[in-house]
Amino acid sequence: AGAAASSSSSQPVRVVVRLRPFLPSETGSAAAPCVSLIGGHPGSEVTVHLKEQRTSRSECYKLDAFFGHDDRVRDIFDKEVSAIIPGVFEGVNATVFACGATGSGKTYTMQGTEDLPGIIPLAVSTVLKLGTGMLCSVEISYYEVYMGRCYDLLEPKDKEIMALDDRDGNLQLKGLAWVPVRSMEDFQEAYSKGEERRNVAHTGLNDVSNRSHAVLSIRVNNDGVTGKLNLIDLAGNEDKTRICNERIGSSLFALSNVISALKNNEQWIPYRDSKLTRILQDSLGGNSRAVVIACLNRIEYHESLYTVRLAGRSG
Ligand code: ADP
Ligand code: MG
Repeated sequence: AGAAASSSSSQPVRVVVRLRPFLPSETGSAAAPCVSLIGGHPGSEVTVHLKEQRTSRSECYKLDAFFGHDDRVRDIFDKEVSAIIPGVFEGVNATVFACGATGSGKTYTMQGTEDLPGIIPLAVSTVLKLGTGMLCSVEISYYEVYMGRCYDLLEPKDKEIMALDDRDGNLQLKGLAWVPVRSMEDFQEAYSKGEERRNVAHTGLNDVSNRSHAVLSIRVNNDGVTGKLNLIDLAGNEDKTRICNERIGSSLFALSNVISALKNNEQWIPYRDSKLTRILQDSLGGNSRAVVIACLNRIEYHESLYTVRLAGRSG
């Protein structure tokens, strides 16, 4: 493995851990945390120690930084995401992932709440602010990847969106809608429609939305230079036995392999192993930047273990 850079802005791939607070329903004796953090202060490398109470089995993984339950999403944004946004205006693509089991806080982190905005609205407003006074246009797309198929959430046609190879060997989503965004009101309108569609589409289909990846893409065209920022709420990785037989499980595994190959500066990056990694190929690796936010619910041993295995490296 290459030597880890110390500054967040010089590392091409950062993997950080996010612990959410206990919910009111989780208090009481059953809520014994099985995740502890060793060393590290906010912003520096940390060892995540997972210990199963019943068996005393334990494992350790190293991640680049941690954010605890006292940290707001805004703190994650300020420390890990805001620095990559100016690059998007210069054509440097970037991707932010939230991974974790269902209930671990992925959507809370990416969307936020009305009072506490998440990574997605914070990123859009930062892009809009930076673009003010520049000769640039800002557009968004919002789509879902489910079982290796893509569906537009902004201007959905009846069928899936086809992903076709372009001349450079990148995969392009043919016919995907890009909606111009000039203000936060424009963004909220488009995004909430997309969210509505996502929920309607899944009514009756038990927890499909937890099993699909939701990709919000911001595209900036700055005086002829195009850059993209992808913000992704990944499928839940909770049920290992089920998802291992499915494409969702294998697409998370493929993503994890790409992330670790990039972190280790390997020559061969296995993009071709899943639809998601192929779609993201132009925004992962090369000179692109990525941040993986591993969301953990501290009382779930197996789920947390699976998440840090996907996101981190043992050590
Ligand atoms: P996921 O998208 O991973 O399934 P959610 O984001 O829906 O998980 O979070 C599960 C629950 O935990 C929700 O009720 C959410 O409001 C709450 N939650 C998650 N993260 C936090 C946080 N940092 N602070 C307070 N509540 C949180
Ligand atoms: Mg969610």
